[in-house]
Amino acid sequence: MFTGFIREIDSVGRIVVPMQLRKELGLTATGSKVEMFSDGKQIICRKAVADCAFCKSETDLVEFEGKYICKTCIDKLKANIE
Ligand SMILES: [Zn+2]
Repeated sequence: MFTGFIREIDSVGRIVVPMQLRKELGLTATGSKVEMFSDGKQIICRKAVADCAFCKSETDLVEFEGKYICKTCIDKLKANIE
């Protein structure tokens, strides 16, 4: 028995995410990003949100060499270096 939305995968592997779900997660703008991964049994698809590599905060982020670090963690790093 299925309890969620059923979608077909097209010939190149694409699926359409139902509008109801896109609206719920604020993914209605073209270019909105999702993160997908597998746990070996299912594909998990979630809104892609940048977060701090250390504390997982989603605010006051600075990108450095492909990673995000929040200003609080930057201040802590500075305090440990000085
Ligand atoms: Zn942080």
